[in-house]
Amino acid sequence: MSDTSIPHTIHRERAVVIGSGFGGGVTALRLCEAGVSTLLLERGLRWETGPNATTFSRFDGIDNRSAWLSERPVVRNLHGEWAPFTGVLEAVVGEGITSTVGAALGGGSVMYHGMTLQPTKSNFAASMPMAAHLYDDLDEWAYPTVARMLGITTVPDDVLASAPYASSRAFLDAAPDAGLDTFPVPLPVDWEYVRGELDGRFAATYTTSDIAFGVNNGGKNSIDVTYLRAAEETGLLRVETLHVVRDIGRDETGLWEIVVDRIATDGTVLENKTIVADAVFLNAGSTGTTRLLVKAQAKGLIPDLPDAVGTQWGNNGDRIYAWIGMDADIGVQQGGPACVGGRDPESPVPFTVIHAGSPEQPPGMKMMTLVGFGIVDAVGTWTYDPATDDAVLTWPERGDAALRATLAEYMARIAQAGGGQMIDTDAVAPGTWHPLGGVPMGDAADLAGRVHGQRGLYVLDGARIPGSTGACNPSMTIAALAEHSMATIVREDVGSVF
Ligand SMILES: Cc1cc2nc3c(=O)[nH]c(=O)nc-3n(C[C@H](O)[C@H](O)[C@H](O)COP(=O)(O)OP(=O)(O)OC[C@H]3O[C@@H](n4cnc5c(N)ncnc54)[C@H](O)[C@@H]3O)c2cc1C
Repeated sequence: MSDTSIPHTIHRERAVVIGSGFGGGVTALRLCEAGVSTLLLERGLRWETGPNATTFSRFDGIDNRSAWLSERPVVRNLHGEWAPFTGVLEAVVGEGITSTVGAALGGGSVMYHGMTLQPTKSNFAASMPMAAHLYDDLDEWAYPTVARMLGITTVPDDVLASAPYASSRAFLDAAPDAGLDTFPVPLPVDWEYVRGELDGRFAATYTTSDIAFGVNNGGKNSIDVTYLRAAEETGLLRVETLHVVRDIGRDETGLWEIVVDRIATDGTVLENKTIVADAVFLNAGSTGTTRLLVKAQAKGLIPDLPDAVGTQWGNNGDRIYAWIGMDADIGVQQGGPACVGGRDPESPVPFTVIHAGSPEQPPGMKMMTLVGFGIVDAVGTWTYDPATDDAVLTWPERGDAALRATLAEYMARIAQAGGGQMIDTDAVAPGTWHPLGGVPMGDAADLAGRVHGQRGLYVLDGARIPGSTGACNPSMTIAALAEHSMATIVREDVGSVF
């Protein structure tokens, strides 16, 4: 039953973008550049950074800025209790897996490490066979455009040689003996900010890897300060934060009806809005976009949605290992972001392993974190639960079984080469930072993100990628595909569909 004390307003728009991460940032900029007045709806807050800022929660003294409307931390092994706040991370609990996703203007880019990897042509095709023929185009201009927009660089030698990066060097020493080719990870980072920490001008944040809730000092070229800033500078983008989209429907004339709650930072609903639009660009991330469309399908809000909505979801093969008690002296502090990785190009099951610094080591224990990912079978599905008016994910173990065995083998080899032991933390609590799929290209949408049979409805985020991005972390591929699709949409749909 609706609460009549809450004001209800109705608005009319040409184009609405829902969600402001990699898909949403690219979409908003390219729409504005094409002259389309655009409204961007984002549930999270805008977070300002700069040298010595105290914007984000820290691991030491974690608080409610770290979590999306939750009474406790959503990051494993951390404890606390507080009043709910519109913080930066949401844990989406499913059957068999928990996905942890961003909730902020800029989406996951605000709190991601920034590993920006482009898959090889064959690995791209193995993950996304329906889009394999796009690869040469993506490689020629879309991936390079994203790299340019995000100012991608790799760790400079002087930073890698400094004391806080001893654990990165320890990984580089051990990995070749385990059969891995090592490489520096491309990152959207201005390393002058890291040098500012190393020479004591700025409080430590990169150099202690205290970055999983956002980088206080700034210097990270996240989507809010790159794509979205450029879009706002056109004068055609209006950004509404603290706007939670609850439902999407299609009216009898074919227009889109978006039901939105404008909320306060404690989650209280301040206003109900109905926004009527010619075109809607769903960019609420794999979990957000999929939940909205599975709800719309189950409740009959959008007739004739493709049957594939709610299918072909995967975890990108994410697995986090704690490497404990290695021979090398890794010091007391571990620098980040995750700047070195390794692969075995000969492995029949493709994978990548990256060293991600740990903000804290258990007392008296030498520990560092290794993250593995690869190509999976996208067998995850979502179903509507009327009791909660939400969709719930089920992820069967078989989805990443082959990759799991391969990663276990290489992790054992690393421990053999460098000493100590490797603990698979996902064996205890399966999780992913890289949810992908739910509204797959091919079966649910075309390769430009147009949902089949639904004129003016687009999906341009991680929801359209079926389960994995070619043994790489996903952001680079989500953004490059969005660039590619937006070029098509601007050419073919602007001025005709909307
Ligand atoms: C801690 C962390 C570290 C990571 N590290 C890396 C990394 O190093 N490299 C990498 O490639 N990837 C990394 N990732 C994953 C990466 O961030 C995601 O793959 C990427 O952000 C997904 O992009 P997207 O456009 O699909 O959606 P997102 O970036 O998730 O954006 C979706 C946006 O939609 C908003 N939204 C959701 N539902 C609603 C709603 N109902 N109403 C209004 N707004 C809504 C969300 O608040 C969010 O801002 C990391 C993720 C996390 C959480």
